Amino acid sequence: MYSDGMTKPSDTNHEMISVADTALEQRAAALLRRFYGYSTFRPLQMDIISTAVSGRDCVVLMPTGGGKSICYQMPALLAERGVTIVVSPLIALMKDQVSALAANGIPAAAVNSMQNEEENRHILDQLFSGRIKILYISPERLLMEIERWSSMLPIALFAIDEAHCISQWGHDFRPGYTQLTCIKRFFPNVPVMALTATADRLTREDIATQLQLNDPRLFIGSFDRPNLSLRVITDSGKTRRINYICSLIDRHSSDAGIVYCLSRRIAEDMDKQLRARGYRSAVYHAGLSVTERNMAQDRFINGELQVVCATVAFGMGIDKSNIRWVVHNNMPRNIESYYQEIGRAGRDGAKAETVMFYSYGDIATLQSFADESGQQTINTEKLNRMKEYAEASLCRRRILLSYFNETIDHDCGNCDICLDPPVRVDGTIHTLKALSAIVRVNGAVGMHMLIDILRGAARQELIAKGYHTIKTYGAGRDLSFGEWNHYISQMIQLGLIDIAYNEGNHLKITPYGSRILSTREKVELAEFVPFERRQRGSKKSAEKKQPELLPAEKLLIELKKVREKISRKERVPDYIVFTDKALQEMVRVEPVTMEEFSNVEGVGERKTVKYWKPFVTAIRRHKGIAEPLGTGFSQEETLLLLNSGYTVAEIASAKNIKEVTVYGHIAALIDADRLTDFSSVITKAQYLRVMDVARNNPESIYEILATEMPKGLPKVALSISDYLLRNKQK
Ligand code: ADP
Ligand code: ZN
Repeated sequence: MYSDGMTKPSDTNHEMISVADTALEQRAAALLRRFYGYSTFRPLQMDIISTAVSGRDCVVLMPTGGGKSICYQMPALLAERGVTIVVSPLIALMKDQVSALAANGIPAAAVNSMQNEEENRHILDQLFSGRIKILYISPERLLMEIERWSSMLPIALFAIDEAHCISQWGHDFRPGYTQLTCIKRFFPNVPVMALTATADRLTREDIATQLQLNDPRLFIGSFDRPNLSLRVITDSGKTRRINYICSLIDRHSSDAGIVYCLSRRIAEDMDKQLRARGYRSAVYHAGLSVTERNMAQDRFINGELQVVCATVAFGMGIDKSNIRWVVHNNMPRNIESYYQEIGRAGRDGAKAETVMFYSYGDIATLQSFADESGQQTINTEKLNRMKEYAEASLCRRRILLSYFNETIDHDCGNCDICLDPPVRVDGTIHTLKALSAIVRVNGAVGMHMLIDILRGAARQELIAKGYHTIKTYGAGRDLSFGEWNHYISQMIQLGLIDIAYNEGNHLKITPYGSRILSTREKVELAEFVPFERRQRGSKKSAEKKQPELLPAEKLLIELKKVREKISRKERVPDYIVFTDKALQEMVRVEPVTMEEFSNVEGVGERKTVKYWKPFVTAIRRHKGIAEPLGTGFSQEETLLLLNSGYTVAEIASAKNIKEVTVYGHIAALIDADRLTDFSSVITKAQYLRVMDVARNNPESIYEILATEMPKGLPKVALSISDYLLRNKQK
């Protein structure tokens, strides 16, 4: 079992794991199917699970949306005894996670400062009854309880979520986390799993040290998120940006996205503009009151808003899995932040769009942040890497992944560079014009003025400075402002021109630029593609009143309506009912029976029983199946749940019916020869007892047995007896 032979857990909590790995894997796979409706583990998940189950500590690095939760939830399901404690700083998320688990039929609870003390106490008391499998708790609260627990509570696993918060090196240090060192003091033999989406080595090592992990295994998942499309749009101008954002909202009109802005003011302005255009938008930044922020966040989570215009303050406490797009109105300060922020899109694994607007204007602001940060060198370096990414002409995903020390040997096919590879044209003439204009104004103008000079604009400031008298004035009238912007940006990227950020962003010619100017060597530039064409007519289709929808799109819309109705009724966010990915699977598979529905990826048993009818009805209607669903399904549901290991009590609670009704189903199923393994329903002793009473007091079986066994069970025993008789005769 402990194949690496490095740890020797001696804890009683783990002695039950004496099964072979394959048996464990089979059990885990069955539970994955049963509770989550997934048919396979993602890479590393099973390894992480068996490491935890074997009692060894581990550190898990996976990107946001990578599937960390299942890594600690599954050991909780596999453990026959003991609760799994999940420490998380994100109190706001706990409720969501508990509802998601409950929706899948997994008993979980949370204890934190957002609930009142009475509620918390009640939950903590329940812990000892063994009914709660997974408990989410804030670090502060854990410290209050841990000593009491150490003597009496069997704990199967500690999972430390957002574990980078323990490290001063991480970007989100939380003092409360440092006290988690006490876990190993009180529970030296309970395995600890530390999870984070922050990858750097320093933080990673610090996590292990601070938590005093015992020879932890390190798991580094791929940071690739292939479902996220990547796009960078350079210098589009404000109106175009807003148009682009509107087209995104239109394309995802029933879903939500985020616009990240560099400052509170920009976020507020963007929100105003979008609301003025009739979109359901709200603003979020640290300058708002807690109430205002919570309200914006709640409306976003509940699907009321189409967009939140926010600073980076937004997103940490959000688990909404169906965010379909993320826009960076301004470039983030480093690739880590960028990746984390775009990572909030598409956590459900379904396609999502990310777009970053890039302008030189932002660089000056970002550079000043870096200068004032107290870590100027490293932050400037990080900013430069971000800039390189923005200006890249290679597959963007390759650049991102190589930043995280991961290599892929192929282009991704889902970034702007892969999709619209830039066409190279001879840009020598343009380059010479621009360079010589810079020389003639002695490097004293910025991008805007330079373009105005080239295009021969009659701007007052330009005339006042006498720029209309230089030789290149008007030499570039043949190109639009946007074209010049595009070409000059590339000259900067190529290193022909430098931007003096400390000198009002003036453009300076570099030694390389001077050489080109004198040698007139050929310069290749990427061809300009008008912004409107780049959008591939998305604006036009948005203007059309009734765009032609494909049948699959229509069905998806119908299923989203079904989901929305349920989520309203149950007062949970729609992605808790089903993720977008699961709905897409339903569209692909088109299940028309309960059984088919239960096999859809992302549909576990609890959800099958609860929801199959409305979804299957909608799918049948879509397919033109006239036959009604019919009746008698309640029995089918009972059979499905029985076959997957639910007890009678669990079935009754999952279906919200009485146990006696469940026994009625079971008896009927046995009568129909559809259930042949009764071991989980009745014990041999119970069966023999019923037979005994049936022989001696056939008239009053039910009265006699009423106090001895659950109501309904005698009937099951009689059905079994008939069944056995039938089969003997055969
Ligand atoms: P993280 O905590 O790493 O951000 P989550 O645990 O929230 O990620 O998982 C992201 C999404 O991926 C969730 O919708 C989750 O249900 C889904 N997921 C996780 N594991 C699997 C799997 N093995 N198969 C299919 N989907 C999975
Ligand atoms: Zn690519």
